[in-house]
Amino acid sequence: MKLSKKQFKQDFEERLTSKFATDITKAGSQEKYAALASVVKHYYTKIWADDNDYKDETGKKQAYYFSIEFLPGKMLKSNLLNLGILNTVKEALAELGINLDEVAESEPDMAIGNGGLGRLASCFMDSLASTGLPANGNGIRYRYGLFKQKIIDGYQVELPDSWLNNGNPWEVRRADKAVEVRFGGEVWLEDDGKGNLLPHYKNQERVLAVPYDTPMVGFENTTVNNMCLWRSEVPQDLDPKFQNLEYMRQTSMLSAELYPDDSNYDGRLLRLKQEYFFVSAGLQRIMRHYKSTHKKDVRNIADYIAVHINDTHPALCVPEFMRILVDEYGVGWNRAWDTTVKVMSYTNHTILSEALEKWPEDMVKHLLPRIYQIIVEIDRRRTAELLPKIGATLVHNTRIIRDGQIHMAHLSIIGSHSTNGVAKLHSDLLKDVELHDFYEIYPERFNNKTNGIADRRWIQISNERLSGVLDETIGTSWRHDLNDLVKLEVYKDDESVLECLQAAKYDDKLRLAALIKERNGIVVNPEAIFDVQVKRLHAYKRQLLNVLHILKLYFELKDEPELDVVPRVFIFGAKAAPGYHYAKSIIKAINEIANMINNDKTIADKIKVVFMENYNVSLAELIIPAANVGEQISLASKEASGTSNMKFMLNGALTMGTLDGANIEIFEAAGEGNNFVFGLTKDEVYEYYRNGNYNARDIYEQNPIVHRILDSFIDGTIPNISMEGPEIFDSLTTYNDEYFVLRDFNDYVRAQKELETLYRDKKAWTQASLMNIANVGRFSSDRTVKEYADDIWHIKAKK
Ligand SMILES: *Cc1c(COP(=O)(O)O)cnc(C)c1O
Repeated sequence: MKLSKKQFKQDFEERLTSKFATDITKAGSQEKYAALASVVKHYYTKIWADDNDYKDETGKKQAYYFSIEFLPGKMLKSNLLNLGILNTVKEALAELGINLDEVAESEPDMAIGNGGLGRLASCFMDSLASTGLPANGNGIRYRYGLFKQKIIDGYQVELPDSWLNNGNPWEVRRADKAVEVRFGGEVWLEDDGKGNLLPHYKNQERVLAVPYDTPMVGFENTTVNNMCLWRSEVPQDLDPKFQNLEYMRQTSMLSAELYPDDSNYDGRLLRLKQEYFFVSAGLQRIMRHYKSTHKKDVRNIADYIAVHINDTHPALCVPEFMRILVDEYGVGWNRAWDTTVKVMSYTNHTILSEALEKWPEDMVKHLLPRIYQIIVEIDRRRTAELLPKIGATLVHNTRIIRDGQIHMAHLSIIGSHSTNGVAKLHSDLLKDVELHDFYEIYPERFNNKTNGIADRRWIQISNERLSGVLDETIGTSWRHDLNDLVKLEVYKDDESVLECLQAAKYDDKLRLAALIKERNGIVVNPEAIFDVQVKRLHAYKRQLLNVLHILKLYFELKDEPELDVVPRVFIFGAKAAPGYHYAKSIIKAINEIANMINNDKTIADKIKVVFMENYNVSLAELIIPAANVGEQISLASKEASGTSNMKFMLNGALTMGTLDGANIEIFEAAGEGNNFVFGLTKDEVYEYYRNGNYNARDIYEQNPIVHRILDSFIDGTIPNISMEGPEIFDSLTTYNDEYFVLRDFNDYVRAQKELETLYRDKKAWTQASLMNIANVGRFSSDRTVKEYADDIWHIKAKK
């Protein structure tokens, strides 16, 4: 949009006065933020309304991305950038004596997601709007987002994240579009006299679902999509006999809290309720909108809408859509089923067996009696149809209901036309191993969509310094098409460009060093290698491997203080699920090791260890630009894709990584020698599983370095971990090191030495960094969503 500084200043000052009866000289930063957000909202509402009209008038097919998590972070700068007014506003504010960055700080992170899954959904939201694709989000408006992490005495302490306390300027409550979602009670079928069996209900619990719409503004275009988040409320006209406190509490609980665990499911009823809640509400709204705009036969709905099931949490979309078509619109079962399969598509995000969602049959039957009947019927018909064709074993292995459990991944695959993995290796594993039986039956349904990241947030907003260097070197077209970064390759031997890249990285490191000083009270050397591992804390991600390497370096320096090493700062950021005991022990160990090393004068600041508390999107935006190295060291086959690996690549960090997830594609894209690869391959890991011949204790006993490092966990060398130390020690020895940390240790050390050697050659290092930046284009989520649009959803971008 077009905006002059003068106009903006006028709008902003007026808004401060009308909203808060104050002016620039007196307003606090919270007031300035609220006024600014309000002005920005005003700027895009017209575009939003116009785009809604355009969508309704053209009636083009739209996609709906159902996800139980979104992780947008802060919206202010993203909206300013996408409206094309970031610089104007920044300069105008500066002229008023206001620093935009400081004002932006007042916005709380919108953290209604745990980690990679939710962040991917938000990257997609940005990319869908920015590529002009008509596609909307659907999720839950949790009152409390992911907990705030405090580190106290080295331990993680969880505090509530009440992000809505000061209101949310971006959302629009649409009470008129509320729908009702029903749970429990009894259901029976009665003939309506025309041969149709219709459901009748008794004693159902009613919950009102109220949508809150948050516009997703496209980058310098006219598309504004919608992220619809549902809040649970008590219906106005509720029968007084239900109006008791317990019911009120239960109802508000539905949208109160995000489930703070991104890999295990403990079968809580509330979680299942949440899943049905946002699925049912979302589909009801879609149907209403479809009927009001298209007035077309509901049987053709597959030509107009696509519904995406992001991981299995929204898998109830399949039976709920069937319920709506069959029970509410009288569509025959077969036609309804064909339509459902055409409309639905599913992304698998993990092969970790503890993360594959299953619900006890009884629980589903009790909570969702009609949905249960429909699932049974889907399963029954499918079994009858396929038994004669493919035989009992294959049918049994792929049943939706098996051993008293409802398998949500099975439901998602069977009830949709597309199942995709999120990186090549992961999609291959799905076909060859994890979902092989399904692949045999439905080979045409399987495909790969390698993840991506919204590059606008992950460089244009978060790394202005590097963005400026890129603009000066290759022009600004990369801001619209990340593939254009390849223009950088010809400057690989240009000393002045390499120096500019170094200077940008140095400035980003200074910025982070200041933050570390402020938050952790630790002084770090900006010349040191900034070696970063930021992600959720999980055994499979192997933060522990990183820790063992740090201890190795530390003991070497203790033995020989004059050793010539390149100084390093190891930076961690990670939240552990509150109930994940082992992960919390690792956080405690990292913090105690950090204390031990940072306070040891004998090693003369050659290594520092920093654990930054409360890792979230905003912190990621500060840390990743400053990284020299990104640690992506999961055991091969365990990380489906990873997306922080892509953020690091975009910001010129070199990856230290295993052949896992999207790392493989990153290594290939950046070219040989521009990253550091180590560790078992997926085939070697599976070979160990087949033979059952991994023996971690042998490594402990035979490798003196490993021996010494592990002993430091139990012999008092590392202080204050008398509980955690033995737990970690045992996990690696007695319990045979589930994720092959010790097996990969030597090769990791080898790769780390190569890294150090390369870092000493500043030019060679910067060239490798340049090659990573130049070849990151394919990891833009603009590419990813275009593939979803073309291959899965069949939706078209606005011209
Ligand atoms: C990108 C991102 C993640 C995902 O990180 P991985 O290393 O891919 O697991 C998690 N949390 C936040 C805040 C992120 O920005």
